[in-house]
Amino acid sequence: MNPIYSVGIDIGGTNTDIGIVNEAGQCIDRCNLSTPAYGDNAELYMDDLVKAINGLLQKHGITEIKGVGIGAPNGNYFNGTIDNAPNLKFKGEVKLRDTLHAKMGVKVVVTNDANAAAYGEKIYGGGKNMNDFIMFTLGTGVGSGIIVDGKLVYGHDGFAGELGHAIVFPGGRLCSCGRKGCLEEYASARGIVQTCRELMAEDKSYNGPLAQLSADKLDSRAIGEAANQGDPIALKVFEYTGYVLGIAISNAVTFSSPEAIFLIGGPTKAGDVLFEPMRKSFSEHVLPIFEKKGKIPILLSQLNANDVAIVGAAALVNE
Ligand SMILES: [Zn+2]
Repeated sequence: MNPIYSVGIDIGGTNTDIGIVNEAGQCIDRCNLSTPAYGDNAELYMDDLVKAINGLLQKHGITEIKGVGIGAPNGNYFNGTIDNAPNLKFKGEVKLRDTLHAKMGVKVVVTNDANAAAYGEKIYGGGKNMNDFIMFTLGTGVGSGIIVDGKLVYGHDGFAGELGHAIVFPGGRLCSCGRKGCLEEYASARGIVQTCRELMAEDKSYNGPLAQLSADKLDSRAIGEAANQGDPIALKVFEYTGYVLGIAISNAVTFSSPEAIFLIGGPTKAGDVLFEPMRKSFSEHVLPIFEKKGKIPILLSQLNANDVAIVGAAALVNE
């Protein structure tokens, strides 16, 4: 009998989420571990990870799986390792693939979370019938995964697709990577808040709902809600964010000539207030040959934002 379930793991700085995913791409059950609770003890962490996976499988009477897919910060596809991830406490290289494979005897695939999301879109989402598309993940940072000829693009060392660190404004905002003007500093949740702060500082007469929020309450979600209620500053924030994303997407398109662009993540929940200026800016900036056969659609991911990281990681075992 062919196994029908896969295990997807999303390793983050706070939590490690583990889920069982069925053939339809639904996460049927999940559990989690605290990632920082293990300090730099990667061996103990991996022992407990395997115990947690086995516990979850036993609970559902599942004896066979297709494999384990893992999305992790600085996840290296070729080596199956996590390499010096800045937001994890583990030091150096963590040999995740080889260790889990030895303990479980199944296929194990490691990559970064944006690649996992893109592959999830390919296997279970709106990219099912597409061989070429690019997915952007907007969240704490901005990630991207590039599908060409039906496959994820990994590049020479496994780190291809870092479009969040494409420079959109030379000399612009200081990025977490140490350079200035990366897309991430404008289109991540953090970047959106920064744009809002700058616009409010410029417009002293503004006294709308965002001006009433304390610093810790001003987040991209609140700005998105305000924009959808017609707040002028919030609308300007998304107009600007859409403008910048449109430029970045038009540049990305020149690289791989995709059939579509997908976006996922908290800031995309703002909806049309983001997508309309983004599509307009994209049309203004894209090289005309890419619009000859009609516009390249910029679409919202069809994956469920709550479990995309798990479902995307689980999809990797189908590679
Ligand atoms: Zn950067």
